[in-house]
Amino acid sequence: MRRIYLDHAATTPVDKAVLADMLPYFSDIAGNANSLHSFGREGAYAVDTARRQIAADLGVKPTEIYFTSGGTEADNWAVKGIAALDKNRGGHLITSKIEHHAVLCAFEQLEKQGYAVTYLDVDGEGLVSPEALEREIRPDTFLVSVMLANNEIGTIQPIRELCEIAHRRKLIFHTDAVQAIGSIPVNITALGVDMLSFSAHKFYGPKGIGVLYIKSGIRPDKLIAGGHQERSRRGGTTNVPSVVGLAAALRLALENLDENAEAIRALRDSFVKRVEDTIPHVVYNGSRDKRLPGNASFSFAFIEGESLLLNLDLNGIACSSGSACSSASLEPSHVLLATGLPIELAHGSIRFSFGKSNTSDDVAYTVEKLTEAVKKLREMSPLFAVIEHKGEGEYV
Ligand code: PLP
Repeated sequence: MRRIYLDHAATTPVDKAVLADMLPYFSDIAGNANSLHSFGREGAYAVDTARRQIAADLGVKPTEIYFTSGGTEADNWAVKGIAALDKNRGGHLITSKIEHHAVLCAFEQLEKQGYAVTYLDVDGEGLVSPEALEREIRPDTFLVSVMLANNEIGTIQPIRELCEIAHRRKLIFHTDAVQAIGSIPVNITALGVDMLSFSAHKFYGPKGIGVLYIKSGIRPDKLIAGGHQERSRRGGTTNVPSVVGLAAALRLALENLDENAEAIRALRDSFVKRVEDTIPHVVYNGSRDKRLPGNASFSFAFIEGESLLLNLDLNGIACSSGSACSSASLEPSHVLLATGLPIELAHGSIRFSFGKSNTSDDVAYTVEKLTEAVKKLREMSPLFAVIEHKGEGEYV
């Protein structure tokens, strides 16, 4: 059977060239990067080279790059590490309602410890308003965390503007850039953020490795206490092969960023057009222009997203209903609800995320199978039968 992968926002396969760079570090050059002997020094050299390369590619200093076990750890470290500096444990923090759970759950834990958290609303496209941020800042606010690009609907936030507001009020600003780095141009210095998280497996690097960029002078408390790795700020034996893989994947992604983004955007746009032209009662979620190139999120009325996902899976097509981490739960997406989508439509949502290996044949096949699946599932829906019978026209 034909198999089509349209879930690149969940994860991407490791690029073969990246894998080739990583392989020697599993067994041939396998010293602990913290050991003093020659074996260790080989590992340390690889980590040091990778750190310098990543910093150069992102236009920041090598000493501002901290390796973590992925985006989740980087987000937790940024949020909890800054909160821990507030010794009275009662200050105020601001985030948005559409953050990934890696950020939201960290804030929820802080609320339980006595901190006050404001979750900013978003508009119908999923955008946070700079005025709303300005309004919510209190005298005891010390941290703002707003994601650069959303994982479900792909909306790209005005981070530079939000960060400027935060800085004018002397607040620390963190952004979760896990979906952005490797997909769209990100100039960390121009954004002005104090901390930024990203993760290799979203740009054809290995899973289980990420980075927290921490601007010089910002000192979040430790999240992982242990050895003296990462300049004594994050304990744990350094994952040398994955660090090498992250650096290689980042370079590859950035070298081909414009070309890949253009091709992926063209495929996505033709897919969106064909879906909107062919299938009635469908909502295209998010923003049409402030959007990640590979993301297409739809809500189909009279349908359960999970049933649609399984139907497509039977045809070899992989996509996602909600974000991968929450797809085990049947709760409707907090992101879609925050954009004002009615709960029954949020239940009928599916995210397709395109990557560099997709083709126009993939688009044609997916539209064909999607149209069939939607039709079949709607034929089983009593509500749809009533609406069709009454001829009430456009439901959405
Ligand atoms: N933040 C966002 C926006 C994400 O999309 C993800 C992963 O889906 C994460 C954080 C978590 O990253 P990781 O899987 O590397 O822990």
